[in-house]
Amino acid sequence: MTRNPQTGSEFSLAHLLDDIRDHVRPAFGRGKVADYIPELAGVNPRKFGMAVATLEGEDIGTGDCDEPFSLQSITKLFALILALNRGGDEVWMRVGKEPSGTPFNHLAILEAEQGAPRNPFVNAGALAVTDYLMGKTADVAGLMAGFIRFSGAVEGGAINDAVAASEITTAYKNRAIANILRAHETIDNEPNAVVDAYCRQCALEFSVRDLARAALPLAASGYSPRAGETIMAPRLVRRVNAVMMTCGMYESTGSFAYRVGLPAKSGVGGGIVAVAPGRGTIAVWSPELDRVGNSLVGTIALELFAQNSGWSIL
Ligand code: GLN
Repeated sequence: MTRNPQTGSEFSLAHLLDDIRDHVRPAFGRGKVADYIPELAGVNPRKFGMAVATLEGEDIGTGDCDEPFSLQSITKLFALILALNRGGDEVWMRVGKEPSGTPFNHLAILEAEQGAPRNPFVNAGALAVTDYLMGKTADVAGLMAGFIRFSGAVEGGAINDAVAASEITTAYKNRAIANILRAHETIDNEPNAVVDAYCRQCALEFSVRDLARAALPLAASGYSPRAGETIMAPRLVRRVNAVMMTCGMYESTGSFAYRVGLPAKSGVGGGIVAVAPGRGTIAVWSPELDRVGNSLVGTIALELFAQNSGWSIL
């Protein structure tokens, strides 16, 4: 049993997740699966998986919680952690920490602000972080897959080459962003090489159960209860959670904070991972997206979770 810190009552995480799975069903059909990456268009829109990993080492899942899905922008979170771990504050010379209030692949604001990305979670900032990691390794996606596996002590996960190739051939907007970044010397590598590395990273696939496990150090001051090691400094955890809270859900970040009250990061594969500091992590996957590109059903599920568990930082 788990205690609701707001009401003091005890509840079962397993029952709560099953209840949420049943409750969200009427919301299917209201969103739209991402189709600008052709390979993602074929995903079954009715998939739903949700998992919680707790600091006590419990992990509970419901629905399609063990099925790998495309992490997409959720990888920006792990890229940021890797970059901060390796370079510390140097990373903030390339990207800012302010919400953008614009779509994740917005172009005009980047040009107006001399190629300085607002934050590491819009595509411009993520491309700059990937470029930074390319200075440390020849295989950013491989490094990230290894880091996710180590952090969560999980074995699954793979790069979906078809998804990567599909995005690489249609990444017109990301190429434009990378070219602006290069023109302003925000990135060091050739724009096309950075876009390729970024698309490969986005094509990583893990299940929500593995994702919740891998993100757990963000709820535990940097300690991975599963790996039995500290994987990031506590001061970095606070910073990453702050950027998630203010920038993690694109131009819905404010309404997501209002509805859920937890730092979170979404991806157009339909995944969202949320952090309840001192308690645990929650990951959800449902491919239909709302108009800004966040999982529509996933957001409802997290709202129900926060309401019923009392796990909210607000
Ligand atoms: N690979 C995707 C893109 O750059 C990721 C976007 C997302 O998940 N929001 O368009």
